Amino acid sequence: MSLISLLPVGKVGRALLVPLSEGLAQRLRTACSIQSAGLNVDFAFNPARRQYHSTEILKKLLDGRAPEAAKVLAVTELDLYIPVLTFVFGEAHLEDGRAVVSTHRLRQEFYGLPSHPALLAARLLKESLHELGHTYGLRHCADYRCVMSSSNAVERIDLKEAEFCPNCQPAVGLGSNW
Ligand SMILES: [Zn+2]
Ligand SMILES: [Zn+2]
Repeated sequence: MSLISLLPVGKVGRALLVPLSEGLAQRLRTACSIQSAGLNVDFAFNPARRQYHSTEILKKLLDGRAPEAAKVLAVTELDLYIPVLTFVFGEAHLEDGRAVVSTHRLRQEFYGLPSHPALLAARLLKESLHELGHTYGLRHCADYRCVMSSSNAVERIDLKEAEFCPNCQPAVGLGSNW
């Protein structure tokens, strides 16, 4: 049993965090809580790119870990990047149980489309499961329906399910006996 702690970053609100925490708890069969105090990530801002360096945020997450939590997932509306990529939806540390996910490019408004809260919530749950899956040691999955398949665009996120495929389930503690 692992406990997941959601850490708000920036202006992300409980309207997103509460359903996310319920979805994660249900999918991963574990307790999931929301930390009351958010994390300030001004240190990770790159003025030239006007984005936040996700690896720098990950480094800070050990400080913010609730004592009983095995995993910390930071959730932000800020736009994230790593130097070799234009952007990232999220990033995870494979050993230390830390991950970060951004809603910035999951929102339909980013693409000039009308707001779609249900679609945003579905995408956020999938990307959160994906990044947490990495913290359980999972790599990318070749099955495009599996939540561990890689996504470089929202269309790919929409294609996959908010579920781990049978090959990926054992790593996150799920499987035939649940
Ligand atoms: Zn990934
Ligand atoms: Zn899989």
